[in-house]
Amino acid sequence: MCYYAELPWQASNDGLCCGGGQGSAVKRGRLFTAIIACALAALHCGAPAFAADRATPFGAAKTQVVLLGTGNPQPDPDRSGPATAVVVNGSAYLVDFGPGVVRRANAAALDKGVQALVPTNIKIAFVTHLHSDHTAGYPDLILTPWVMGRQAPLEVYGPPGIKAMTEHILAAYQEDIKIRTEGMEHASPHGWKVNAHEVVAGVVYKDGNVTVTAFPTKHGDWKESFGYRFDTPDRSVVITGDTTPTQATIDACHGCDVLVHEALTLKFLANNRRPNPQGIDFHAYAAKYHTTTAQLAELANKAKPGLLILVHNPITLRPNKRPGASTPEDLLQEMQEAGYRGKVVVGRDLDVY
Ligand SMILES: [Zn+2]
Ligand SMILES: [Zn+2]
Repeated sequence: MCYYAELPWQASNDGLCCGGGQGSAVKRGRLFTAIIACALAALHCGAPAFAADRATPFGAAKTQVVLLGTGNPQPDPDRSGPATAVVVNGSAYLVDFGPGVVRRANAAALDKGVQALVPTNIKIAFVTHLHSDHTAGYPDLILTPWVMGRQAPLEVYGPPGIKAMTEHILAAYQEDIKIRTEGMEHASPHGWKVNAHEVVAGVVYKDGNVTVTAFPTKHGDWKESFGYRFDTPDRSVVITGDTTPTQATIDACHGCDVLVHEALTLKFLANNRRPNPQGIDFHAYAAKYHTTTAQLAELANKAKPGLLILVHNPITLRPNKRPGASTPEDLLQEMQEAGYRGKVVVGRDLDVY
């Protein structure tokens, strides 16, 4: 069956799905869109999805996956820099801190009621790799919650280089830190600090809510980059960051409840001449750094997630402003044409799953 997934607490959601699964309620205002969308999707619908029903029903899940930033380097006002939060029992675990992360976190708290994402409550973060689109929000994540009252140091886990990046950011802001702690603001003497942990593949973090396991990804010339699997009391969530398709991702998911993965549209690649006007051979770059929809369909058919969330895509939510750019519908259509029949949604900022 096909449905337009609109979760009760979501403002918007582009989820189109072919296959089995528990259809979420379709709000009346969205019904027409849903009918059109399902009619389009039906063109590509095939057999019921493999075991999609075993995914934890969203409404009953204690663990929430909150999309804080679903964009990429493009300064898209609708799609903040890469950042995803896994929220368990009132605690937030952040993966990546792209530009805009702290404001999106506060929006999740204010507009979606996710109190764990009140910025002063964010204490633990993981980073997949050190590309600027995934880390340009790092100084913001260190400093803004502290200025707003966080007392404890931030705990950050990531590949080699995260320690040096942390030290350089703190050095850049040393005068700010001095004035805020020693001056009239009386900011916490510890809340600006960061304990940066450089990880290797394996279990990198464990507490009463989660076990976090890092696995290697392949992202072009980056020597080390990681995806993370979160095992909580009720769900398993895998967030890959940027990567080409890898067996390690398939193994890390292996029937996980939620897989958050990037996907480039074939349409985007087709629209980029080789080389483009800037001299970039984007096809060669994409093959070394990223994953296409066709590749992701093949990967996800092996990994078998209960729900696949697409992020970091070359899409626009304003096609009238960027004619020719890929759209969420293009993404889903390509996934279906490539033979993916599981539950798949296009993530939008502030979606909660
Ligand atoms: Zn990226
Ligand atoms: Zn990257």
